[in-house]
Amino acid sequence: MAPDTHPLSLPPDLIRLGARPAGKEAAIREAAQLLIAAGCIDPAYADSMIRRETVANTFLGHGVAIPHGMVDDRDLVRRNGIAILQVPDGVLWNEGQTARLVVAIAAQSDAHIAILRRLTRLMQDEARLNALFSTADPAELVAALSDDSPAAGPASDAGDLAESFEWVVDYPTGLHARPAAAWVETARTAAGRVRIRHGGEAADGKTLVALLQLGLRPGDRVTVSTDGPDALAALNRLRATITGLSAREKADAAAAARKAKAAVQGWTPPAAADGRAMPVVAGLGASPGLAIGPVHVLPKADLTVPDRPVPLLEGGNRLHEALTLTRQQLKALADDTARRLGPAEAGIFTAQAELLNDTDLVTLTCQLMVEGHGPGWSWNEAVERSAATLAANPNPVLAGRASDLRDVGRRVLTRIDPDLRGGSIRDLPDGPCILAADDLSPSDTAALDMGRVIGLATAQGGPTSHTAILARTLGLPAMVAGGAALTGLANGTLAILDGQSGRLYLDPAEGDLTAAHGWIEEQRVKKAQQEERRGLPARTRDGHTVEIGANVNRPDQVPVALSQGAEGVGLMRTEFLFLERGDAPGEDEQYETYRAMLEALDGRPLIVRALDIGGDKQVPHLHLPHEENPFLGVRGARLLLRRPELLEPQLRALYRAAKHAREGALSIMFPMITTLREIEALRAACDRIRAELDAPAVPLGIMVEVPAAAIQADVLARHVDFFSIGTNDLTQYALAVDRQHPELAAEADSLHPSVLRLIRMTVDGAARHGRWVGVCGGIAGDPFGAALLAGLGVRELSMTPRDIPGVKDRLRDSDLAGLRALALRAVDCESSDEVRALDGGAS
Ligand code: PEP
Ligand code: MG
Repeated sequence: MAPDTHPLSLPPDLIRLGARPAGKEAAIREAAQLLIAAGCIDPAYADSMIRRETVANTFLGHGVAIPHGMVDDRDLVRRNGIAILQVPDGVLWNEGQTARLVVAIAAQSDAHIAILRRLTRLMQDEARLNALFSTADPAELVAALSDDSPAAGPASDAGDLAESFEWVVDYPTGLHARPAAAWVETARTAAGRVRIRHGGEAADGKTLVALLQLGLRPGDRVTVSTDGPDALAALNRLRATITGLSAREKADAAAAARKAKAAVQGWTPPAAADGRAMPVVAGLGASPGLAIGPVHVLPKADLTVPDRPVPLLEGGNRLHEALTLTRQQLKALADDTARRLGPAEAGIFTAQAELLNDTDLVTLTCQLMVEGHGPGWSWNEAVERSAATLAANPNPVLAGRASDLRDVGRRVLTRIDPDLRGGSIRDLPDGPCILAADDLSPSDTAALDMGRVIGLATAQGGPTSHTAILARTLGLPAMVAGGAALTGLANGTLAILDGQSGRLYLDPAEGDLTAAHGWIEEQRVKKAQQEERRGLPARTRDGHTVEIGANVNRPDQVPVALSQGAEGVGLMRTEFLFLERGDAPGEDEQYETYRAMLEALDGRPLIVRALDIGGDKQVPHLHLPHEENPFLGVRGARLLLRRPELLEPQLRALYRAAKHAREGALSIMFPMITTLREIEALRAACDRIRAELDAPAVPLGIMVEVPAAAIQADVLARHVDFFSIGTNDLTQYALAVDRQHPELAAEADSLHPSVLRLIRMTVDGAARHGRWVGVCGGIAGDPFGAALLAGLGVRELSMTPRDIPGVKDRLRDSDLAGLRALALRAVDCESSDEVRALDGGAS
């Protein structure tokens, strides 16, 4: 594009108020005349604009039309500009479509996207838009449509803004999606613009895709700049976020390197007697392990998205709704993952959700819809174009985000057009196979039939892709980046897949197969030994046992938890049954889930927490009133007591399930308890429903996560069967630190002595009435935290499954007397740093 740094400025001579054109063509010509007079277009471009109307509909909706010329006639555009014709009485654009603002666009390249972005934003503010249809003040139009918005698109000139600092990328894997999402989150708090410049390329710091497209690698020097009323403060916040992430990025990279080194060594095929080497397809190792079986090549998933145009307004609504629902779904996935696996893993979904905030994607979709395409087709096209740009990035980590974008795009697509559901993993052979595919989305990977697929090999993708991460979680040997040779293989070709070295050996001889089977057996024995160790109780050297539970929400997650050494489930967060879907499960569906949970646990204990909705866990489909401060609002038990239609079906489902449970296996626990009155009311509801159903008694416990409950533990203990301390919330309420606050997260430290004192008070209060205390917050999964908690007298620890082996090892290596002494010293410390410094001391 010719250098035109103000492509869409709007001088008053390009605005005509109160126009009364005789019809659509007259309106277009009148608007074109303004552009001609301002020297923006050649007069012939007006004809081009009229011609375009015969092949595409430029009516945007809500009374706005955006006539522009044919693509081939761009040479008739002399300089970028827009002209506005205000038609208060309206002009019929097409059947049923009346335009009141005719925004004629002259753009040499895709500068019209910027105006479209502003118009689509304006359309969300109907009152303001309606006012523009009849305003007598051109300044209002200028203000609404000029290029003064902080959310305007990526910077097309590479200059820096008012305040700036330079920074050299020191993240070992460059600026990948997870830290980039954190940058964007902070950038969005700025009132003005945020620009990230690398050499001659600059990106809008508020747009994730633009930021990723810079392809920043370690060692790249960037200039971060801001403007607007809070430029300096915003810059400082950005500096804190950007530099603050360095330590974590380095630690993550070091941990990944350690893990890779410690991972199982790859398999080496035996030397063949005749010196003939097996043919091999080489790629990158993505998930260790060996698989032997026939290859099944998945036909390239060429998703054909039919172009089904609908009225623009309906298309816009469908797009909006699909984006909202997908965001909610990803937020729930991120929340769940953060609680189960930790914030780093949850970042995958947060970053995926952030990809949806890319205004370019939405704008391009709108534009394609305006051109007359259906919403599904338009969305898919916009995603494909953006993904193709990402895939072309030389940085493999960033190129890997293309499949994340396509995956998240697919989620939205199937919400726009549910007919497109079904995925690509169908028609697999009956027996086990190594699945070879061009690429596989994370959603497809998660949905694989593990009974049939024993290994995974993709032509594209990278080892850091979400698909690879999922394959590792599933324990499925996988290689990526095998190239086109993979998809050219004949179905049924016998192969040995080594997911460690990233190799697929073809047509193995008898000796190769024997060696590979032997290696698999060796690994199986090693794994069984590890599992056996994990299966041992967490008994200290002097014979004190701490019960170990898993925080698990779904029956299908139970086997993994048990294989990690869980002795039961200490926290089932039932709100995720509501959060991960667009509606509320009814009583029967909940009953089925609780029964399936009990069955999967086969008599082991299960503590089900009643719905903890509110705070950070918002369920939009419940339409609860907006709260200024939801963490201090109607949350957890407070909500349950106000909404019997939520509480009662859940209790009924639980008591029905209790009839099938081993005696004492099922317990019910209530969240966010503050007062005795709440316990009494909830207990009364339980008693009534139990009597109605003639169900057995079930132990009733409460979460201790409000300091008031910890302080009054001696009073509350009389009325409950057990306590489980939610240290995540207890910490945020005790230290007055929002547990999700990006800047304060490090200060929300559950090892703060004041939190430890609250835990001690809870244990003491419970002991007076012979009640037991567990902990199910994050600190239970930290080996040092677990040691302290055991020393404080906590009897049960429930944590994310993968933390179990480390915690068990730590406790088995300790003496209770040492742990008690350690706890005594910790509560007397002056700060959490001092507490942490005790780690490594005698226990
Ligand atoms: C806690 O607050 O520590 C807890 C376990 O509950 P949640 O994280 O679900 O709020
Ligand atoms: Mg909590």
